[in-house]
Amino acid sequence: MQQLNYIGTRHVEWRDVPAPALPGETGALVRPLVVSTCDMDGAVIQGAVPLKGPVPLGHEGVGEVLETGSQVTRVKPGDRVIMPWKIACGSCLHCGRGHTAMCISVDREAAYGWAPTAPEWGGFLQDTVPVPWADTMLTPLPTGLDPLKASGLGDNIPDGYRAIAPHIKERPGADVLVCGGAAPGSIGLFAVGFAKTLGAGRVVYADHDPSRLAIAQRYGAEIWELGTTWLDGIRQRFDITVDASARPDTIAELLRMTGRAGVCTSTSAAVYIGGDVPVPMFHMYRNAISLHTGWVHTHTVMPEPMALIQSGAFDPMPVTSRVVSWDDAADALVEPFTKLIIARET
Ligand SMILES: [Zn+2]
Ligand SMILES: [Zn+2]
Repeated sequence: MQQLNYIGTRHVEWRDVPAPALPGETGALVRPLVVSTCDMDGAVIQGAVPLKGPVPLGHEGVGEVLETGSQVTRVKPGDRVIMPWKIACGSCLHCGRGHTAMCISVDREAAYGWAPTAPEWGGFLQDTVPVPWADTMLTPLPTGLDPLKASGLGDNIPDGYRAIAPHIKERPGADVLVCGGAAPGSIGLFAVGFAKTLGAGRVVYADHDPSRLAIAQRYGAEIWELGTTWLDGIRQRFDITVDASARPDTIAELLRMTGRAGVCTSTSAAVYIGGDVPVPMFHMYRNAISLHTGWVHTHTVMPEPMALIQSGAFDPMPVTSRVVSWDDAADALVEPFTKLIIARET
């Protein structure tokens, strides 16, 4: 079957690989229909994150179930399903707590479209994807929910949601500051959109990129156009801050701008690979500020943002740069984008 691989900077290509077998009686085989880019895809393809190819690409999307094992009960062949980026069993200690990104039944890095385990699981930009523990992994696509709007629910939409939703529930009307800066930048923009949807007070989006600033404005955010000094020297306070900058100094700057009993989430920490980041611990202690980071527990978080999209309360489409065909995926992926959606002719 055909599988799209990252080879090197701005170099991707389709390769012929063996089709996967059904991964046991609790597993399923799924044919991806709509796949959207994760922010990590753009960072890797443009050379911002060093990665040795070949690596299969694609890890958020919507597909059609082709075949299921005898013990699968939640989905059946022909069903349309939302596919998550991370492999999780649903029944280990961590999955039981909802911490599915840290499932202990598989290697910590076990995921689609991501080194070093991607050769085992593949990516979603291929004809057939093996899905273990299908009853945990696959979420039936709700009737009437547009697959284009649902494709990001496998990773980046829940990632933006978790940076805002649990914290705003504890702090109704909270003021929110999201600092972007890292391309492609969809997660920070989803955070902006959810802040507006969930009733935040002031919502500010800071970035240097005009196209991302324009998207934040469409969601109704106040925008700060960053120069070379970024946030340095700004002395305003926010209850909730989000780092989507991939710039190590930004975390300390944001923590100093986080108000009393506030919370800061860094969604872009994956690009700090290999280096520690200084944080102002005494300031955090005196002001009871929390710092969150880590992979999103997609399987657990997904239902809430999915309901907001289905009801029309939140629309992820303003973040989408382009919808392209399956045949155009390789050409489109090497160009800069905020978020691409790749749709197979169905
Ligand atoms: Zn991802
Ligand atoms: Zn598990």
